[in-house]
Amino acid sequence: MKIIEGIEVRDREELYLNIQPIQAGGRLTPEARKALIAYGDGYSVCDYCIAPFRLDHIKKPPIKDFYQELAEFLNMDAARVMPGARRGFQAVAQAILKEGDVALVSSLAHYSLCLAIEGAGATWKEIPVDENNIVTAEAAKEKIELVNKESGQLPKLIAVSHFDYLLGNEHDVRGIAKIAHEYEIPFLYNGAYTVGVMSVDGKQIGADFVIGSGHKSMAAPAPTGVLAATEQYAETVFRTTRTEGDITRRKFGIKETELLGCTVMGAPLVAMMASFPRVRERIKNWDEEVEKSNYFIQQFLKIEGNKVASEMPRKHTLTKVDTSDSFGKVAQTHRRRGYFLYDALRKKGISGPFPGATNEWKLNTYGLSWDQIKYLSETFLEIAEKNGIKVSK
Ligand SMILES: *Cc1c(COP(=O)(O)O)cnc(C)c1O
Repeated sequence: MKIIEGIEVRDREELYLNIQPIQAGGRLTPEARKALIAYGDGYSVCDYCIAPFRLDHIKKPPIKDFYQELAEFLNMDAARVMPGARRGFQAVAQAILKEGDVALVSSLAHYSLCLAIEGAGATWKEIPVDENNIVTAEAAKEKIELVNKESGQLPKLIAVSHFDYLLGNEHDVRGIAKIAHEYEIPFLYNGAYTVGVMSVDGKQIGADFVIGSGHKSMAAPAPTGVLAATEQYAETVFRTTRTEGDITRRKFGIKETELLGCTVMGAPLVAMMASFPRVRERIKNWDEEVEKSNYFIQQFLKIEGNKVASEMPRKHTLTKVDTSDSFGKVAQTHRRRGYFLYDALRKKGISGPFPGATNEWKLNTYGLSWDQIKYLSETFLEIAEKNGIKVSK
C-alpha cells in the first residue's frame, strides 16, 4: 500500500512486535493517531490564539492546562514542550553557557547534548564511568575539581542521563545533583529514557532542569520533548524578549527568546497531549515493565554464547546484548550472513534489530504484554536451536 508513489504505508507497529531500541516508548496511542489527523493542518492550534498570543496560553485545545500538568507531572515549577530533548538541551545551553565555559556530561552522553554545548560556544568534558559503566557522584566531584584545577574555573552546567542510551544503565543522578549544588552548578537531568515511562520527581532528584523526549518515551510523534525548570532557572531559560525595532519601535511582548516565541504546534503537540492521560497512568506499571525485561533477558541468556553488556539485573527495558559468540558465529557461515537473524525474526513477526546486526545490538521490550514477552523469548530460543546453537533448559 502506498500513500503516493515512493512512500509506503508504515505497518511495523501493526504487523510486528517491535523491539527497536528507540521506538518502543514513543509508539503512539490510538488517541495520538486521531489527533495527528484532526490537527494535521499547519497552524491548526491557532484557531483560538488570543492575546497575549503565545502557544502556552491557548485554552482550546487546552494547551495552557497541559503545560501546567507537565510541570506538575515532573514536580518542577515550569515546563515547555520542545521539538525534541535536543532542543531542550540547546535552550538550556544557550541560556546558561557563554563562550569559553565548560559543561560536564557523562562519557555515555548523547551526541545531541554535546552539540548543544558546542553550539553555545562552550566546551564539554566527560565524567568517566566506573568499572560497572555507571556514572557516580564521586566521579563527578573529581571531574569538577580537575576542570577547576586545569582551567581555573568551575563547570557552568552538569548534565547527566538517568538511564543512558548506550547501555540503559542507571546513573546516580541524585548524588550528582547534590555534588553539583555543593559547587552551585546547575544540574540538568536528562530523562530521554525515563520521562513518560517511569515516575520522575525533579525536585526530589535535585534537578534544576528536567528534559524528556516525547517521541522517545511519551507516546508522542516527533518532534516533541519537554523542558522543565525550577522557578529560579525558569527565569533564565524562559526569559522573554527585551529588544525593539530601531525604526518601528516594535516589541514582541511576552514571546520567549530561547523558544522563538512558540515551539511545537499543531499535530505533534496535540498528539502528545492526547497520549498524556495514558502516559500518566502507564508510569505506574514501570516495575512490571522492568520485571518483563528481566524475564526476557533470563530466557535470552539460555542461549549459549549470549551475553548482556548492560548492568544486571536490568533496571530498564532497554538492553544492550552481545550475541557475537552465538548468532554472530552462525552469521559467519550462513548464506544470508548477518541478515539471517533479521530474516528469521521478521518471519516470526518480530521487528527491531537492525538488518545485519548479530554482534552487539540493543533491544527494548517496553510495552509488550506478558504473552508477547513469552512469545519473544521462545522465538529467540527457537531460532538459536534451529541454527545449531545450544540452549540450556
Ligand atoms: C534519544 C536521546 C536524546 C535525544 O532525544 P530527542 O528527543 O530525539 O532530541 C538525548 N539524550 C538521550 C540520552 C537519548 O536517549
